[in-house]
Amino acid sequence: MENASPNAQINLTALKHNLAVVKQHAPHSSVMSVIKSNAYGHGLLEIAAALQDSDAFAVARLAEGLQLREAGESRPILLLEGVTNISDLQQAAAADLSLVFHTHEQLMMLMTASLAKPLTFCWVKVDTGMHRLGFSPDHALSAWKILNKSHQVTGDIGMMSHFANADILDDEKNTRQQDLFSGLIAQDADLAAAPKSMANSAAILSRPESHLDWVRPGLMLYGVSPIVGKTAAELGLKPVMTVSAELISIQSLLAGETVGYGSTWACPTDMRVGLINIGYGDGYPRQLPTGSSVLVNGEVVALVGRVSMDMICVDLRNQPDAKMGDGVVLWGEGLPADIIAQQADTIGYELVCQLTQRVPRCYGENNGEA
Ligand SMILES: *Cc1c(COP(=O)(O)O)cnc(C)c1O
Repeated sequence: MENASPNAQINLTALKHNLAVVKQHAPHSSVMSVIKSNAYGHGLLEIAAALQDSDAFAVARLAEGLQLREAGESRPILLLEGVTNISDLQQAAAADLSLVFHTHEQLMMLMTASLAKPLTFCWVKVDTGMHRLGFSPDHALSAWKILNKSHQVTGDIGMMSHFANADILDDEKNTRQQDLFSGLIAQDADLAAAPKSMANSAAILSRPESHLDWVRPGLMLYGVSPIVGKTAAELGLKPVMTVSAELISIQSLLAGETVGYGSTWACPTDMRVGLINIGYGDGYPRQLPTGSSVLVNGEVVALVGRVSMDMICVDLRNQPDAKMGDGVVLWGEGLPADIIAQQADTIGYELVCQLTQRVPRCYGENNGEA
């Protein structure tokens, strides 16, 4: 059977390759693969199953953790934002999900909750400068000690933090955050012996001193560049998601005729315009301007006019032989997601996350790879 069109091929061989790149960079760290937001749009359960060499997983929400447990996943699963109410706390404990504690309220809740069984392998988050989640450096150690004393948690309790600017290689804030974290750890011998974690993808690739006991790769697993100014290929990463569609019609238009809503683009000459069956209803960014890259029969052509819900138009002047049914790649193999993200004035993270469920994911090993 032919694949549906459009579709997103998910190359599990590339995924495993990218995990191996994580391990090459951080050979002495355990790996907590970040698979929040449906594994960055790639499919939560399929990606978890393929990451056999990952030591643990991290997600953002309770529902994501429960879904993994229900599918039989037995490795540690960390909820990066912890929980905000007792019912969620009880469900997390019952499902053996690990929690991040980042506020005093969460500690109080834990003290008073009646849990089916104790939590295992939890983390305290310290805010070293991101100013999103976390205890201040002054309060993180006491929070960690409270958790250590509590009978509601058994097993390791780690200390983690998160970089604000790791994607910018020479940003001095990275060093300041790292120093604050090291200073905190140095305050207590017991804490120094506990698991420690700071590095996301960008830090894994650029800051060995941040690797510590656990690294937390997300974007790089999916073969998209986490570093400003570096391509995924330069970093040795292979694209996992390739979004494909097809030419569904070809129009021969005259000079001056416009295409699409708003008539924003007019043919500069008599020419052929191709219609492709993908649009913002699939998560193809509507803000992509005329001139953005689309791969038709393996060659780059230019998007013209506005992106519709179900269709886009392309300039076929350099594709005299293109015909209905010919293959199109929107991003992935042959057209890096980073390029499309840049043209859409967004980031690779958003591009892959926003691909909608209308686009079926097709899982395979080695597609298009030698
Ligand atoms: C999302 C997330 C990560 C992964 O970040 P990438 O840049 O995708 O590698 C790591 N740690 C935390 C706390 C996160 O929220």
